[in-house]
Amino acid sequence: MEVMKMREEPILLAILNALSKRMTLSYEEKQSKINMEKGFIGEMQFDQLMTESAESEAVVLQDLLLRIKGNSVQVDALMLTQDVVYLYEIKNYDGEYVMKSGQLYTVLSQEISNPLTQLNRTSSLLRQLFQSWSINMTIEANIVFVNPSFMLYQANPDDPIIFLNQIKRHFFQISQQQAFRSGLPKKVTQLAERLSEKHQKEVPFQKQLPDYNYDGLRKGLLCRQCGSFEVEVTQRSCRCERCGYKETLDEVILCHIKEYKLLFPQEKVTTNLIYEWCAKSVTKKRIQQILNKYYRKKGQTIGTFYD
Ligand SMILES: [Zn+2]
Repeated sequence: MEVMKMREEPILLAILNALSKRMTLSYEEKQSKINMEKGFIGEMQFDQLMTESAESEAVVLQDLLLRIKGNSVQVDALMLTQDVVYLYEIKNYDGEYVMKSGQLYTVLSQEISNPLTQLNRTSSLLRQLFQSWSINMTIEANIVFVNPSFMLYQANPDDPIIFLNQIKRHFFQISQQQAFRSGLPKKVTQLAERLSEKHQKEVPFQKQLPDYNYDGLRKGLLCRQCGSFEVEVTQRSCRCERCGYKETLDEVILCHIKEYKLLFPQEKVTTNLIYEWCAKSVTKKRIQQILNKYYRKKGQTIGTFYD
């Protein structure tokens, strides 16, 4: 199994995480951060299980964002084998749910949107894309519930659902079907390449983001492990006074440059800005060294910036 496209932390989540340490988020923003985190953790758990159990010759694409016929389509995971493309919609729901005539409810009878509907939409659009590319591959789509505390009552055994304790068997069965075949046909790897080329980088919509600006954010060095501002800086390293996490000074500075670029992608990065961003806890000289080493320098002495 080869992972051709790896999953990354969603940009919106990374921004919310960074902001949560430097400003106070509203209740809704905190909630949306928690939900996104939960979804992301579930997806990574699935990736892990897949890596452990899938032995077959296959190409895997994690987290694709595609535009198909004007529709935005989010694909959690795709596994391309010799003649079947497996599509997975991953859900990290916890607690008890009931399926009643095609609708999904919490045990308190609150209706929630049915992931099967979403799955049908995704697989239908993907089929249309394959058709337009004259690709003749079967798509087998499944919802995967990865949370150990998830329970679904009255599910139809025919529904395309894989529960946590079925994941390993699912991959085992695929391996069995593939056992006598050797090597993936070129058309399959070409399809995987074509799909990952079509992947669009996520751009968070302004309205999804909290309202923030440079002045409103707390400056200073942060511990990457626990988010504390109580970081002790020495000649070569940084040590968190709260949790004891230690990193080299270079790593810490690089991390803060990346954080700044994530939050202010339009702004030009300068030594002075990063110096302020770190609340002057690191010398300008050191920051400049790092910028020179890892970023491209633009402009003359005055007005020098990096990208
Ligand atoms: Zn810490």
